[in-house]
Parts: sequence; structure tokens; C-alpha cells
Amino acid sequence: MHSLRHALLLAVALAVGPAVAADTTAGVRLYALDCGVVEFSDMGMFADDDSYAGQPGTLVEPCYVIEHPAGTLLWDTGLGDVIAAKPGHAHEEGGIRFTVPVTLQAQLQQLGLQPADIEFVSLSHMHYDHTGNLEQFPSATWLIDPSELAWASQPKTPGPVSAEHFDEFAATRKVMEGDHDVFGDGRVRILRTPGHTPGHRVLLVELENAGTVILSGDLYHSRSNYENARVPAFNVDRADTLASFDRVRQLLKTHDGRLVIQHSPEDFADLPKIPAYLD
Ligand SMILES: [Zn+2]
Repeated sequence: MHSLRHALLLAVALAVGPAVAADTTAGVRLYALDCGVVEFSDMGMFADDDSYAGQPGTLVEPCYVIEHPAGTLLWDTGLGDVIAAKPGHAHEEGGIRFTVPVTLQAQLQQLGLQPADIEFVSLSHMHYDHTGNLEQFPSATWLIDPSELAWASQPKTPGPVSAEHFDEFAATRKVMEGDHDVFGDGRVRILRTPGHTPGHRVLLVELENAGTVILSGDLYHSRSNYENARVPAFNVDRADTLASFDRVRQLLKTHDGRLVIQHSPEDFADLPKIPAYLD
């Protein structure tokens, strides 16, 4: 359906010339980029009711580019292009294998973007698999949840987080108090959904044709996690997680929205491959 519509729009644009192509009233576009894959020999940590104990599993690590007429947002930055430079584009540690077959840098170029074209960078949260390429964007404004930064900056925060970057680029930070409307027109909103980490957030995007899309961050890690309301054992707060589950379910109902579970290989496969996009 989408590709047919795009083909028709392209045909119209070619027929009437560049005036149509340079439409300044363009809508919002959502691009899904491949920022790596993580394979686990034991998914036990992803539910505190033992339901995944001993099972192997795979999570994908997408990054998202949101193009709005007023600017461009990068949502989550993946595992890190440094892994792409390693033998086999992979890194293995403690029964977990990380692979980055294609760099974020190369995919941005495919979209005609340089790092300097990214006006805003924001993170669902500060676990290492979401902050990997952050230092590639020193000129962007980093939209940061203050409780997340405080948590990630503690020396004993569990799991590797790279808070040192946040000091290095302190001048480019903008602290988000409560929910944050990125472009001021309600079409791209970063919503507080704590529990996985103290300042965890999801991204709600209103698209003209695709409707409301919510990018989950790590509120959920899989479809079965969503369907059975399973809480990962390493979440910082179980009650907050359940309240955030409830908020997102209500939002999906209100907007008749589509939930994209970022780590779900199935959900990622259902999105258009770049340079195609949702709009
Ligand atoms: Zn994650």
C-alpha cells in the first residue's frame, strides 16, 4: 500500500516538476535504522517470574530518525559503530554476542544526513545499548531526563552506562522536566515512563498516514513481555514499571496507536527499510 502511494506521489512530482517535491508543508517521517543485534544464551533476566529462564534469544537494536519540518531528532543511538570495526563486526562477553554489521554513520549518509544535521538527540534511557554512538553528535542538543542522568552518573549503577559523555558535552544538554514536546506542535513527544530505569521514556509520534506510533524504548523487550506484562528482573522499580505499562496501554487505546517494541526483531521487520519510511 505504502510503496504504491509513494510511487504515485513520485510520478506526480516528476510530472509537475520540483515545485511539488519542495513542499514546505511536509509531514513528519519516521526512519528505522539498524544499530545492531544482541544474542543472549539465557534470556532469564527479562522476566522476574522465571518465564524465560534458560531460553536463548535475540534482541535488535534500532535507532530512529524523526524528520519534522522544523528539525531532525535521533531517538536512541544503538550499540556503537566501534563494534562494526571489530573482526566479524562483533564483540562477545559473558554469554552475550553483540553485532553491528552496518554503522549508524553509513545509514545517516544513505539518508543524506551528516551528524551536524541532527538537531536533537534523545534516549529512551541510558543503558549502554542505547548510548553507543552518542559522542558522534557533539553539536546536537541532547534532550536529557534529569533523574536518568543522576542515576547513570552514580558510580555503582548496575550495567555499563557511559555517563562521562554527559560531562564532556554538558553545554549541549537540555533537561526535560516532565513530558517533552520536541517541536512544540504535539507531533513528536517524549513521555515519562519510569520503571526500567528512573528516567525511562517512550517516544510518541503522530504521523499523517500511519497514525500514532509509540516507540517503546525498553518499557517492553518482546511481544510476549508486552502481552503477559512481564517485568525484567533488573528493572529499578516494579511498581513504576506496571504504572508505565498502564499509561502506554491507555495511550495506545486513546490514539488507536501502533506500538513498536524496539528490541523485537518482528516489530523491526514490520517497519519500512531505509531509505523508505513511515509518514
Ligand atoms: Zn535496551
